[in-house]
Amino acid sequence: MRQPMVAGNWKMNGSREANEALVKEVLGALTSPAKAEIVVCPPYVYLPQVAALVDGSAIGLGAQDVSDQDAGAYTGEVSGSMLRDVGCAYVIVGHSERRSLYAEDDDFTARKFAAARRHGLKPILCVGELLEERESGVTEQVVARQLDAVLDLEGVESLKDAVIAYEPVWAIGTGKTATPEQAQAVHAFIRSRVAERDAGVADGVRILYGGSVKADNAAELFSQPDIDGGLIGGASLKAADFLAICRAA
Ligand code: PEP
Repeated sequence: MRQPMVAGNWKMNGSREANEALVKEVLGALTSPAKAEIVVCPPYVYLPQVAALVDGSAIGLGAQDVSDQDAGAYTGEVSGSMLRDVGCAYVIVGHSERRSLYAEDDDFTARKFAAARRHGLKPILCVGELLEERESGVTEQVVARQLDAVLDLEGVESLKDAVIAYEPVWAIGTGKTATPEQAQAVHAFIRSRVAERDAGVADGVRILYGGSVKADNAAELFSQPDIDGGLIGGASLKAADFLAICRAA
């Protein structure tokens, strides 16, 4: 049985004041333990602040990115050991904004996935197709390529301590959500692709959906057999919406 998970990706949003208000409101309303594992991923600079706010609570901490390197002359980078040091358990790897805005390719993403694991972080590996790729019928090839880059480098067993997030790029921040059927089809494909290497790992790995998940569409998406929760962008910045999504999982 896979425990559902809801992870909030705050992206480049927040301030000390806004973070405190958001986390306190979510924690204040989480009176009974949620069925889902809940994680928030603030910007790097706010990780220590949010780590202190969620300390001892049911909310876990993740980062939005990690360096592929371990230490040294890499100006601006943040290593997996630093993320562990400030209390992160998870890290998002290969988000489509990293892939498209910062030209991070499959190999680089796979090396970040490896770096996360080297430092005991659980990667949340994002995969997903562009609109033109969906329209030209290559969604499965794209997702398979992104997934295989990681599995070829790190092996299928690496997914035992990782999470996959299927995020169709055309649905991220656009208000256009994949239908539950569209999402389920790709989730089932991802699971079958992993099962070709190891059926047990495929059965156990959590596959989250991301892309304009809102309070009013979460339950239907999460009711699909291969959708194990969500990676939430915009709606994770509003306590009431994030809570409703957590409760739907
Ligand atoms: C995301 O950035 O991972 C995401 C899913 O964003 P949104 O929910 O805003 O579409």
